[in-house]
Amino acid sequence: MTMDRRDFLTASSALGAAAAATTGARAQPRRRTSWRRIAVEEAFWTPAVAEAQRALGLSSSRSLDFKTTRGTCDPRTPLYRGLTDFDERLRVMDRDGVAMHLLSLTTPGVQMFDPETGTAMAHISNDHLADVIARHPTRFAGLGCIAPQSPKEAVKEMERSIRQLNLSGFIINSHTDGEFLDAPKYWPILEAAEGLDRPIYLHPRSPPDSMLEPFDDYGFHNARWGFQAEISTHIMRMHAGKVFDRFPKLTIVIGHMGEGLFGNLWRIDHMSDAGRKRRTDPRSPDLTLSEVLKRNFYITTSGVEHAPLMRFVMDQFGVDRMMWAIDYPYEDSARATAFMNQVDIPDAHKAQLFHLNAERIFRLPTV
Ligand code: MN
Repeated sequence: MTMDRRDFLTASSALGAAAAATTGARAQPRRRTSWRRIAVEEAFWTPAVAEAQRALGLSSSRSLDFKTTRGTCDPRTPLYRGLTDFDERLRVMDRDGVAMHLLSLTTPGVQMFDPETGTAMAHISNDHLADVIARHPTRFAGLGCIAPQSPKEAVKEMERSIRQLNLSGFIINSHTDGEFLDAPKYWPILEAAEGLDRPIYLHPRSPPDSMLEPFDDYGFHNARWGFQAEISTHIMRMHAGKVFDRFPKLTIVIGHMGEGLFGNLWRIDHMSDAGRKRRTDPRSPDLTLSEVLKRNFYITTSGVEHAPLMRFVMDQFGVDRMMWAIDYPYEDSARATAFMNQVDIPDAHKAQLFHLNAERIFRLPTV
């Protein structure tokens, strides 16, 4: 007879209880099952933005993002419904015992429009988001979207997002027209995030045109591989571009259990250090990537339900800097919730991942 891990745990706790009963000792308390669950990378669309994005896609052949957004922008698809129907979302949250979604405008957000349209769409979308939150203030919080293609207007929208709309931070869907946040023209945005003391959630996109060809023919421009390659390159560029020397208090949140960086961290640090020692790279940042990740980054579990990797990231990075996320509606809410319910980590750590860290990092209401 084979036994899966859960059967084994059940059987061993039954044995433990029997042993405790025979020795007269008290049985171990059951693992806690009731949690306040806050999921922090939960996507939505504002219909007006989706419509404009769809029109842009139909009129252009340029980027792979149009491939990944074709379904999400089409009102006939289940994904579109998942992104726009908040009653349905609340039913799913109730079913799975999820208290709150921290909402963010789905990738690529408003980052493919021209600067004026992008700025206007960010404004419309953030008003829509604030409206949804106002109707369900205990169930939803949200991140303000911005159009980095117009940095000056983006800063104004960031200030409005926090001061007037009471949002909890910002979403940037990674590169903007093939440029990354290491480019100094975007630094006013980083300065504003640091000044407002709110995190930027950096969410992946398909690789930009400059790097997409080797991803396109096999169709892994998406979350299979393109997203990870794109956003880890973005993070490497921010680090190499000394962004975190210039903005030591900037906080960045990344999803997907660290976007694949953790398997490579030792070597990245090692090779950067070697470059520094040989003076081949006089522009080296002050801190290693590991040091920057531990000081400036938070990591969420979104879309990765793999316990060994979770334990590794917790061990390397610290449970204080990790949060739970589903990646609704792209990922299955019931499965993501069941994974966290069952994963074999201490209850105190589970409480941090399920809600305590999110409440602290995004300054969410604690009920
Ligand atoms: Mn996502």
